[in-house]
Amino acid sequence: MTTGFEQKSGFTIPDPPSESDLGQCVHCGLCLPHCPTFRELHVETESPRGRLHLMRALGEGRVDTSDAFVEHISLCLDCRACEAACPSGVKFGYLMEATRAEIRARRPLTRFGGLLAKVIFRQLFPYPERLALLGGLLRAYQRTGVQWLVRRTGLLKALPGDLDEAEALLPKLSARFFEPRGTVQPRRSLQKRVAFFAGCVMRIAFAETNRATVRMLSRAGCEVRLPEDQVCCGALHVHAGEREQAKELARRNIEAFERRPAARSAGAPAPADAGRLSGRLPPAARAAHSAAAARSAQGDPRPHPGRDEGWRPLLWQRRHLQPDPARDGRAARRTEGGQRGRDRGRRRGER
Ligand code: SF4
Ligand code: SF4
Repeated sequence: MTTGFEQKSGFTIPDPPSESDLGQCVHCGLCLPHCPTFRELHVETESPRGRLHLMRALGEGRVDTSDAFVEHISLCLDCRACEAACPSGVKFGYLMEATRAEIRARRPLTRFGGLLAKVIFRQLFPYPERLALLGGLLRAYQRTGVQWLVRRTGLLKALPGDLDEAEALLPKLSARFFEPRGTVQPRRSLQKRVAFFAGCVMRIAFAETNRATVRMLSRAGCEVRLPEDQVCCGALHVHAGEREQAKELARRNIEAFERRPAARSAGAPAPADAGRLSGRLPPAARAAHSAAAARSAQGDPRPHPGRDEGWRPLLWQRRHLQPDPARDGRAARRTEGGQRGRDRGRRRGER
């Protein structure tokens, strides 16, 4: 049972962020130019530094999850651009996810909102076949002219909620969905054995990207295994504060990929720290394995130094996934340099 005092004295979720995690920000402001909401709104509360300040205040029980607090946290896109730029290695994504879980714990959804969240997060996303069924219906909606008619008549505007705005965000669904199954052989001499993480929305909306990634890996000499029992990575769940469901998905993915000798994943975003999320992961290799499932081959230009299959590449990945202030400082300087170049270009264009 919780008392009013406990409600106000910091995080109440079972795995709250530590004081040191919450206090890691040194307020240098280097992340500010990288934050899309700060660049748009120009207020401190919509910056990574401001949000970290709020999270720390929540942890210390100085603020509650008021409407204003929730709005500042909700406006964050959770893009984690600030995390890449931060020289202090602040784990922004992890802190944001914990804060959203705390909000969900303290402010339960309305009956309708709760039902909708249950259907979407518990009955739809964990089941790829149900998602494919919905994807098929939406694809028919897009390709048979119904979408055109609905938009033309403004039908959705007449319905309650922001259905029209949500519909406008619907990506064009792939003509043929991606189904992970079997093993793709390398097109040249075997260099690596990898396992591919296909994602959930990626399978139905960006199936061609998945297929192209698998082709690219195969041409680079990789034997690509496609574990059939992999599921959604849980990013949507954890960003919405559905932490327990995200943990369950992380466990299922770890088990699916553990049955493979190596994992070098691609395709979809993932929760900030699947290893940390999946509570029952004792050895480092298992956490590394799940962290490997959160990497994106498209976004990672680094060469793979592992020589053969087994744990070695996973441990290499783990090392590179740990916060590293020196490496992240270099990344911040690089992105700052890029930003300065873009600003110079814009000024030249304005003249
Ligand atoms: S996650 Fe993205 S939107 Fe949120 S504070 Fe960081 S940079 Fe800004
Ligand atoms: S760059 Fe890192 S340490 Fe500096 S203000 Fe942003 S989050 Fe804090």
